[in-house]
Amino acid sequence: MLDIKIEKTSSPKAKPQKGEPLGFGHIFTDHMFIMNYTEGKGWYDARIVPYGDLTLSPAAMVFHYGQEMFEGLKAYKGVDGKNYLFRPDMNAKRTNATNDRLCIPQLPEEDFVQAVKAVVEVDKDWIPEEEGTSLYIRPFIIATDAFLGVAPSKTYLFMIILSPSGAYYASGLAPVGIWIEDDYVRAVKGGMGFAKTGGNYAASLAAQVKAHDDGYSQVLWLDGVERKYIEEVGAMNIFFKIDGKIVTPMLNGSILPGITRDSVINLCKHWGMEVEERRISVDELLEAQKNGKLEEVFGTGTAAVISPVGKLRYKYDVMEINGGVIGEVSQKIYDTVTGIQWGKIDDPFGWRVEVK
Ligand SMILES: *Cc1c(COP(=O)(O)O)cnc(C)c1O
Repeated sequence: MLDIKIEKTSSPKAKPQKGEPLGFGHIFTDHMFIMNYTEGKGWYDARIVPYGDLTLSPAAMVFHYGQEMFEGLKAYKGVDGKNYLFRPDMNAKRTNATNDRLCIPQLPEEDFVQAVKAVVEVDKDWIPEEEGTSLYIRPFIIATDAFLGVAPSKTYLFMIILSPSGAYYASGLAPVGIWIEDDYVRAVKGGMGFAKTGGNYAASLAAQVKAHDDGYSQVLWLDGVERKYIEEVGAMNIFFKIDGKIVTPMLNGSILPGITRDSVINLCKHWGMEVEERRISVDELLEAQKNGKLEEVFGTGTAAVISPVGKLRYKYDVMEINGGVIGEVSQKIYDTVTGIQWGKIDDPFGWRVEVK
């Protein structure tokens, strides 16, 4: 158990008005969680303080060599008036998998969950209430030693900031166009693709800019060696419905193990659908599309839950999926996962966690 000191702000900010568009990641709440780490001493000084800027040495290692990790989850205002998190224990586990890869010290899972709950509780009045909105939670760890040598830092900060965010889909689930990237790569096996760390995003920007310039909203990455097998989308995992089966790339070390991905696999199996986690080549997709067997394509991630794909571009081929409209299974998964998150339906898996 962490002993969390709480210092409340004496000048609370004006909260967004009801109906005001929140967007994503622009607005921050009144408080943040912060905790220090020093080698030999461990994690200490857990506190919730007024949200504000940090003072760090310009030599802090995070600025130079990218030793950092982050997580992303949400708090929901349930239809029953209760505040919920969705599977925060999974974020805690993934934090430590990422930490291991980046030589960041382990953070006890129960401390991670306790810290998330504590800061959300302090700022629970910031959880927006309109349909589809949520409070985005961003835990992260940065290396803070003032040292330009390349080595793991001996000091770190673990922080959690909160940002009210708008409904991802203002008017129904609009399918997106996706660019299958055949030049740049995001990650390779043995690299850090499975870790949630800023470096993977830095590596992704150039392709994202290229895709945007061509009118596509996201990049679908191929494996870094053969550039043949499907990996994942920018900040989402990817699923296909091929000839009645749900198929998604297996976790191979270069793919981020999404919590939404895991939830979707569990849900589809629970419904008695066949789910395959395996290698999928672009050629297989092109072939399935030609034979009318590529029935649905959707991305999965915390932000959107389900993002239907209406169009996939690969070199000179453009595949239109399901007539550019959301598929039946995609819609059913979306309704069920969000139904559990907002407390609208039964939660047979125990995924919903209440924050008092
Ligand atoms: C966070 C993330 C995802 C989605 O993970 P969820 O736990 O479902 O939000 C997928 N891909 C990448 C690269 C990510 O960073």
